[in-house]
Amino acid sequence: MAVVETELQKPYVIGLDLGGTNSVFGIVDARGDIKATTAIKTQGYKTVEEYVDACVAALQPIIDTVGGIEKIKAMGIGAPNGNFYTGAIEYAPNLPWAHDCVVPLAKMFSERLKDLPVALTNDANAAALGEMTYGAARGMKNFIEITLGTGVGSGIVINGQMVYGSDGFAGELGHVTMVRGEEGRVCGCGRKGCLEAYCSATGVARTARQFLQDSSEESLLRQYKPKDITSLEVSLAAAKGDKLAKRVYDFTGKMLGEACADFTTFCSPEAYVFFGGLTKAGDLLMKPLIEAYNNHVMPIFKGKAKFLVSTLDGSSAAVLGASAVGWDM
Ligand SMILES: [Zn+2]
Repeated sequence: MAVVETELQKPYVIGLDLGGTNSVFGIVDARGDIKATTAIKTQGYKTVEEYVDACVAALQPIIDTVGGIEKIKAMGIGAPNGNFYTGAIEYAPNLPWAHDCVVPLAKMFSERLKDLPVALTNDANAAALGEMTYGAARGMKNFIEITLGTGVGSGIVINGQMVYGSDGFAGELGHVTMVRGEEGRVCGCGRKGCLEAYCSATGVARTARQFLQDSSEESLLRQYKPKDITSLEVSLAAAKGDKLAKRVYDFTGKMLGEACADFTTFCSPEAYVFFGGLTKAGDLLMKPLIEAYNNHVMPIFKGKAKFLVSTLDGSSAAVLGASAVGWDM
């Protein structure tokens, strides 16, 4: 009864998808309908105080459209290097006001919004919570969300709970080592051979450049300067039947599938949910992925995990994910 009353009196949460370029806000109801939205640039503020001022100024009109702050239960933020335990963003390279310090962003927003409860986590965890609340993982208690964008992120849900670990940063499956030793590709984290260096959108482009260099095989990709090749050109070429481009996806899917087979030994998820630009490649990626998974997973796990693509709409998924952080607190 108490829950129903709260939902009636406070039927909305605010979601903030805090990216390196844009900060996108949505006011969201329990069914995942975005009632109002606004956005500001993330860059261009010298201090975090100025940034929060600009956010609150942008938020006020959309808060008014749903009946005022009294109608809002909480705010959830998905942000790079966001720590759920502390509500702080810690040393985020792409955020000028947080790249060399720890910024207690959840507390700052709460103080400016009449003590509204505010929770924060990293973007991949927010994506997983969004999937569990509104998307392909609704009703699941054990799944792993893998985000395939510029990087490879992950959110791990075990026994119905998001895994945050001892320090709030658990779930960095993009940085498991897939290639050991000196030949491993350099990764953005400063180490070598990480999954992200191969299976992100940038990793796919790197693989294509490497294949083009290592062979003289004909390919539609040879019409581009190597530096101009992105995962988009590779997927377009592969869709047209280009053999080299297809091998790039075979390579990428195989590595992801082998990685997932190892993740399964740890937490036996009911499903893997893939999200992000690379999933647009469809079967080009998913077929070799599932095949490699089945070839590598321990016999007791064979045939159990589902392989799904996110059902959340790309443009609103991040805001929905952030709002789910607010519902989850
Ligand atoms: Zn790494």
